[in-house]
Amino acid sequence: TPLDRIRNFSIIAHIDHGKSTLADRLIQVTGGLSEREMSAQVLDNMEIERERGITIKAQTVRLDYKGHVLNLMDTPGHVDFAYEVSRSLAACEGALLVVDAAQGVEAQTLANVYQSIEHDHEIVPVINKIDLPAAEPDKVKAEIEEVIGLDASHAVLSSAKSGIGITEVLDAIVERIPAPKGDASAPLKAMLVDSWYDPYLGVVILVRVIDGTLRKGQNVRFMQAGTEHLVDRVGCFRPKIEQLTELGPGEIGFITAQIKEVQQARVGDTLTDAKKPAREALPGFKEVQPVVFCGLFPVDAADFEKLRESIGKLRLNDASFSFEMETSAALGFGFRCGFLGLLHLEIIQERLTREYDLDLITTAPSVVYQIELTHGGGYIELHNPADMPEPNKIESISEPWIEATIYVPDEYLGSVLKLCQDRRGVQKNLTYVGGRAQATYELPLNEVVFDFYDRLKSISRGYASFDYHQIGYREGDLVKMSILVNEEPVDALSMIVHRGTAETRGRGMCERLKELIPRHLFKIPIQAAIGGKVIARETIAALRKDVTAKCYGGDITRKRKLLEKQKKGKLKMREYGSVQIPQEAFIAALRMG
Ligand code: GDP
Ligand code: MG
Repeated sequence: TPLDRIRNFSIIAHIDHGKSTLADRLIQVTGGLSEREMSAQVLDNMEIERERGITIKAQTVRLDYKGHVLNLMDTPGHVDFAYEVSRSLAACEGALLVVDAAQGVEAQTLANVYQSIEHDHEIVPVINKIDLPAAEPDKVKAEIEEVIGLDASHAVLSSAKSGIGITEVLDAIVERIPAPKGDASAPLKAMLVDSWYDPYLGVVILVRVIDGTLRKGQNVRFMQAGTEHLVDRVGCFRPKIEQLTELGPGEIGFITAQIKEVQQARVGDTLTDAKKPAREALPGFKEVQPVVFCGLFPVDAADFEKLRESIGKLRLNDASFSFEMETSAALGFGFRCGFLGLLHLEIIQERLTREYDLDLITTAPSVVYQIELTHGGGYIELHNPADMPEPNKIESISEPWIEATIYVPDEYLGSVLKLCQDRRGVQKNLTYVGGRAQATYELPLNEVVFDFYDRLKSISRGYASFDYHQIGYREGDLVKMSILVNEEPVDALSMIVHRGTAETRGRGMCERLKELIPRHLFKIPIQAAIGGKVIARETIAALRKDVTAKCYGGDITRKRKLLEKQKKGKLKMREYGSVQIPQEAFIAALRMG
């Protein structure tokens, strides 16, 4: 395809503003799909993605429209996958900015649009859901101009749901988004945008050709990985697979090259011709590093092999997730796993439970701390609170910080600011736009990974939106807090906390564990301690021999319930010395009230 006939674009939107629905409409109108095939949303194709309404892996679709080839690049919709988003955006020249006509601009819209502007994209505003009675397109236009600083006078008005304004969107893509540039005679340079494992095709690689031509039968070198592979398939998605013989400059498509593992096809790598290589790789390659770690242990020790196998399978398709074997005194054999963020962790955990039918115990998520050792012992990276060196070996500890942007209606601002303050936040900026506040805070990642997002949503009745990126490490007064149940430390519950908030956190943990651990025949002390010093304590009173004896007056239903509860509980308990701790206590205890 000649360069001036190609348009590469992505769609940016806040969650639920209609990105997937619009994408499906564009595919339908340009003939890629029948009405029947439309019924299932095409671009979000994993079950969990559909349920959570988010896109995890980037996908692309080639559309034909009025003699042009339009490549629609779908991008992951969550901050955890920011690097993948950045590579998808780098493969495009423009973006549709979809804004809900009733909701207006939200935090995620902002974060995405700024990224798009950084990539020099031509941005076409699309005001969607104009069919809604609450739609206020003029107000939203004004907001786009005021908040983002984009000219919204030519915004396209659409209803993706009812099919209004779809050809206008397509025309705007052709007329307003620039054609790609590239040199067909230069040595091949193609960017690896995404890769995933397909059971029939092996590893499929999504590429954007910058210069030269990528052909079937060609031997290509992956410049960052330093490997060479023979291309055995070239094609594109319409969204069904169509095989091609080659991809020229400016084009987006896929290749397969008999690659077995996604780790060999890393996002951001540069593909070049092995015989006539480009002199230098494309800029912007980054090795993605997990930022949140936790232990995953089978509830039933006999499931360990099954867990190993399942984790291995998931890893086949997800290069950003890491794992290594771990043993815990209390939990036995399991794995220490690394994730891009909490959502990523939850997705993996959910898939292991749902698709692989495993009952798991997840230990306290932890960020990666940098520890400077005394006597010039250098630095270590700490992924697991259980591996914390003795205090006298530690010179200093640093923790990762983030910059968060929170967008919230005025009336909830007070509680949001208090939440940020309680989590050691440092306010950087606070502005108001049309009855809404935009607060920028620097926060320790450690204070955010547990339940910050849930809290934010609940104190703002779901109206606040939140986005963040990492800004580096800072030294902090951090200590390891251990939890002792019946005088025995439970390593899965130990965590690293700031000294200033340790007591509150410790008290909260003890109080919640008191509720979560059932009574035993003896009294159980629960303690939070730093080093040898107990900072909080609760006691679970002993149970009398006959559980039902304390139900006065023969409340039969209550008695029966108690017994049933006990029976059910037995299945999901772990023994700690002589104490049984229910599985859900591990995560529930971490939620900060
Ligand atoms: P995404 O999260 O941005 O991909 O949003 P979706 O495309 O999944 O849409 C979120 C919800 O909004 C779904 O329930 C859609 O049916 C609905 N929706 C999308 N476009 C429109 C529209 O133009 N009008 C109305 N009324 N609803 C829409
Ligand atoms: Mg979607």
